[in-house]
Amino acid sequence: MKYEKSKAFAHTLDSNDRLAKYRDEFLYPKNNRKNEIIYLAGNSLGLQPKKVIKHIKKELSVWSERGVMGQEERWIKFHERFAEQTANLVGALPTEVVIMNALTVNIHLLLISFYQPSKTKNKIIIEKDAFPSDHYAVQSQIKLHGFDTKNTLIELLPRAGEKILRHEDIITSINEHKDELALIYLGGVNYYTGQSFDLEKITKAGKEVGAMVGFNLAHSIGNVLLDLHKWDVDFSAWCTYKYLCAGPGSPSGVFIHKRHHKWKGPRLQGWWGHNKESRFEMPSVFNAIDTSEGWQISNAPILGMAPLIAAMDIYNKAGMSSIREKGENMSFYMEYLIFHFIPSIKIITPNKRGCQLSLLVPNGKKVFKFILDNGVVCDWREPDIIRIAPHPLYNTYVEIFEFVKVLKKAVES
Ligand SMILES: *Cc1c(COP(=O)(O)O)cnc(C)c1O
Repeated sequence: MKYEKSKAFAHTLDSNDRLAKYRDEFLYPKNNRKNEIIYLAGNSLGLQPKKVIKHIKKELSVWSERGVMGQEERWIKFHERFAEQTANLVGALPTEVVIMNALTVNIHLLLISFYQPSKTKNKIIIEKDAFPSDHYAVQSQIKLHGFDTKNTLIELLPRAGEKILRHEDIITSINEHKDELALIYLGGVNYYTGQSFDLEKITKAGKEVGAMVGFNLAHSIGNVLLDLHKWDVDFSAWCTYKYLCAGPGSPSGVFIHKRHHKWKGPRLQGWWGHNKESRFEMPSVFNAIDTSEGWQISNAPILGMAPLIAAMDIYNKAGMSSIREKGENMSFYMEYLIFHFIPSIKIITPNKRGCQLSLLVPNGKKVFKFILDNGVVCDWREPDIIRIAPHPLYNTYVEIFEFVKVLKKAVES
């Protein structure tokens, strides 16, 4: 699309936006002077859908009116209601996904199964700039197997003087380590740079050298298009509180490819992963459900999951392809405005990206504080990056225009 610099153009984009109506489905935060702010932190915590309260109240009333009877009547199957919509979001069969636990917990559960190092094939490829929790999880898994992280972790770094990992370098590293490689574990969209990786190609390269391939999709889910089943990914996990707007600490989702569903390898077992027919006969011998549900351990946190109903309904109505289209458009429009109005700012996010820009700003921390004081909520990452993540379901093009004006003022002051 060809963009223009005027505010009138931003208004035109908004009036042509088919997703504009969804903004009204969310509660928009205010600042402490009760003025509306510009919320551009959708990659940290998505806003609250208005219908969340209704869904929480519903579960509270079932609890108060039915007590434990609510379990059998409703809550035993509660997580199942998300299977179809979640599968649509990640390109999976409904049996390949399940909502459970929190993200890092799920990463551990998946690594317990899918990281099976041997004496010779035990290495893990990870981004040097991966989210810290990914590093911690992977390091502890390596130690659990009695290996040393120093010789086991292959950390991918951008080339000297570059900020972004080159795709060809990922593939080269996979091939270079092919005989020792047990696992490739990357973020789908890097949380820091906003770079979106070609998961299909990475998976293919990983399969060719006999490695397991798993992705952390915390910044991909609800943001970019995914087709995990077709791409043949082994496993993935994500949280639902960022783009998906299911509330602070809301549960995580996982994908496990169908070909693993009759899993005979190691896994951490719990009663919620046990065959549903005999679960309440309370047998002491574990008989796993032969879908991704077999990796569940505990019964679902119903009150924590209820907001996800509201969030997924909106996603389902709006449709992921429209959301992705607007997300791309918003980030490129923002890039255009920054380039024209504030050329001193360097954008490190490459074109293949989620709906996020990571800005390298001289005096970044001061600039960040200025824009925060002037009503824009975004996010600061040490040592020098401001992350801006508009959300296609509740942000407008005019807000992006206004944000760039504030940013310009901040840089010039
Ligand atoms: C947000 C995020 C997490 C958060 O983990 P929790 O277990 O939900 O606290 C983990 N990894 C990545 C890549 C993230 O972006």
